Amino acid sequence: MQNMRLSIVIPFYNEEEQVALTVAAVTETVAAIPDCESELILIDDGSTDSTWAKLEQAAASHPEIRLLGFSRNFGKEAALCAGLDAVTGDCAVVLDGDLQFPPRYIPEMVRLWREEGYEVVDGIKIERQSENPLARAAANTFYRIFRRASGINLRNASDFKLLDRRVVDAWRELDERETFFRGLSAWLGFRRIEMPFTVDDRTTGHSKWNVRALMRLSINAIAGFSSAPLHLIVAMGVVFWLLALVLGIQTLVMKLLGRAESGFTTVILLLLLIGGGIMIALGLIGSYIGKIYHEVKGRPRYLVSRTERGPLRRVAELDPPAPPTDDRPPLDPAGGADR
Ligand code: UDP
Ligand code: MG
Repeated sequence: MQNMRLSIVIPFYNEEEQVALTVAAVTETVAAIPDCESELILIDDGSTDSTWAKLEQAAASHPEIRLLGFSRNFGKEAALCAGLDAVTGDCAVVLDGDLQFPPRYIPEMVRLWREEGYEVVDGIKIERQSENPLARAAANTFYRIFRRASGINLRNASDFKLLDRRVVDAWRELDERETFFRGLSAWLGFRRIEMPFTVDDRTTGHSKWNVRALMRLSINAIAGFSSAPLHLIVAMGVVFWLLALVLGIQTLVMKLLGRAESGFTTVILLLLLIGGGIMIALGLIGSYIGKIYHEVKGRPRYLVSRTERGPLRRVAELDPPAPPTDDRPPLDPAGGADR
């Protein structure tokens, strides 16, 4: 089997007790994968404890470790972006720094990529009974809304993924500032397979998410994938007008029967009609803002992953057949399963 280069991307935020444990577990697992050299890209997301010092210690004894330290806490999404930007391997595995995504699954992910030619291996959480039922209900509600709004099903999805180099390149072409790794990597497509895994318990520290951060991520995720909420205003306007019709008829009847206060009818009718009209108008403006927003994001219109020459090594390689820029082997016409 050909030698491969595996990149591992791990974000850390205030995980001082966890760093050494995680590095030990990951390097041990990766070392056991045959014909595989590796690099570990560890990102310190602006920790305020001794995480950076612990990372430097780890790097001193493991030459394959590369470190990126943020100037402040930018959030896990930003950390993942930085990590993926730094990847030099043939494929990249993204996992959490707290060992909740167990490294013991990495060899299986690599096998699926190497031997079966999958370009994305999605870690799918096997549901656990021990999980807080309230948190699970909240997560499921979010995934339902997200699916309705964007058409992408993320139920039980996680950030535990293996991405082929081409998928990483495609990811780098996305222009948007606010990313949502789980959703965007699903949006990218490519040959994917789901790999169920059991989430382990955290052994040290505590979860860095709080309700506010999760709410922000959820709203960002939905707003980043869909302008449906804007179109909701039009629907509201239409409902308003239907109500106006009913109320209007009732008011007119009262007026004709002579039971209405003088002037009252006109006020009600005007209020209802103008209210409904404004909402519909706002909704229409919203539709245009929605268009602007989709354009401004500048996502590529499509992503090509293979041509008659076989799978592309890099997505950007599409226009003129570029001369080989590095020492990668030539494309494998059989489909590139043997990497
Ligand atoms: N993390 C990060 N920046 C943040 C919050 C979290 O880099 O602002 C990292 C954290 O150190 C961990 C991973 O993201 O390695 C997952 O975070 P956590 O375990 O707190 O999330 P949960 O498992 O509760 O979803
Ligand atoms: Mg965790």
